[in-house]
Amino acid sequence: MNVFDELVGQQHIVKSLQDAVTASRTGEETQEMTHAWLFTGPPGSGRSSAAVAFAAALICPNNGCGTCIDCRTAMAGGHADVEIIRTEGLSIKIDEVRELLQRVAWSPSVGGWRVVVMEDADRLTESAANAMLKAIEEPGSRTVWLLCAPTLHDVLPTIRSRCRHLQLRTPSTDAVAEVLTRRYDISPGMADFAARVSQGHIGRARHLATDESIRGRRNTIMKLPLTITDIASAFKAAATLVELATEEANTQSEARDEKESQELAQAWGQGATGRGMATGGSKALKELEKEQKSRATRMVRDSLDGALLDIATLYRDVMMVQATNATNGTQQTNSANSAGAITQSAADSPIQSLINKELAGEIAALADRLPPHATVEKINAIMKARTNLSFNAAPLLTIEALMCALA
Ligand SMILES: [Zn+2]
Repeated sequence: MNVFDELVGQQHIVKSLQDAVTASRTGEETQEMTHAWLFTGPPGSGRSSAAVAFAAALICPNNGCGTCIDCRTAMAGGHADVEIIRTEGLSIKIDEVRELLQRVAWSPSVGGWRVVVMEDADRLTESAANAMLKAIEEPGSRTVWLLCAPTLHDVLPTIRSRCRHLQLRTPSTDAVAEVLTRRYDISPGMADFAARVSQGHIGRARHLATDESIRGRRNTIMKLPLTITDIASAFKAAATLVELATEEANTQSEARDEKESQELAQAWGQGATGRGMATGGSKALKELEKEQKSRATRMVRDSLDGALLDIATLYRDVMMVQATNATNGTQQTNSANSAGAITQSAADSPIQSLINKELAGEIAALADRLPPHATVEKINAIMKARTNLSFNAAPLLTIEALMCALA
């Protein structure tokens, strides 16, 4: 057992991390060990899991055994020497970085290192990044910075030039399915389905595999494009999609909002003196509510974006079937007699490579009905809707326009 066992499909970086842990025992800056690391990779590839595992290994007396108290508390986010910065807001501001720098200025409490994991280094403002830069460059520092971002270009050049870069990969469907069965005891059939439709996103795969309501919502959303016959049904499909995405986002945010509000009220003395909150408490609560509202809006957009990506996989499958049909058609005319058996096996293969195997019948029917160029246009329409949503276009209007394009 080892903390790095938990990383899925990232064997290519594990050796660098283990070498760094071994080198770090000398306490010197060596070729293998450095003070600043940057983990990049697509969403769901496990950037922060990799960073947290590395943090645990650095402070563990056994190089990341995964079982000792240091490893376990570090992985759970409760170790005194491991600070995990997760951002809810759109940016990490200079005040937050200054506060962080004060906290990590003390020497480590147990081991040789103090580790900061910053999950969204791409959200650092320029001034915040510059404040952090000084700390990263401080000679003799016992703090190790583990920054995470989607790509290298999302991080300011001043920061990324000081970091050792590690690129994570999108794990394969098989690797994700294997983890789901081994770690979460999910049946192989369900694990295969969840891994396949989540396209290497481990978190999404796990939610799909373990939550029936999420599966139900996805199932309804995937069938929406198939129900559109005219303008009226397009508008209806749009309304359903927005409703389902909102529902999904709300279930996620409501519980969190309430917990945050309660914690804040307690911090301002509610319940402790029996007299309600201290002065300033209600103002702080109002500010929190404002933040929660903007976060909720963003979560609806994220959830809509996820739904659109799912729908795009449907048309990707249609395109795949059309391409295979076209190839088989050519083969058949070229060698109608001799290659019959080969054509047959090639015709079976698109089902194997479909993301949405469960909808194979519907996909085949769509592939027959649509001219290939129309399939491409529909995928483009979905991507355009995603772009518009990311620029704050009104969700319902955007989806209505999209559904009309998909009709
Ligand atoms: Zn350990």
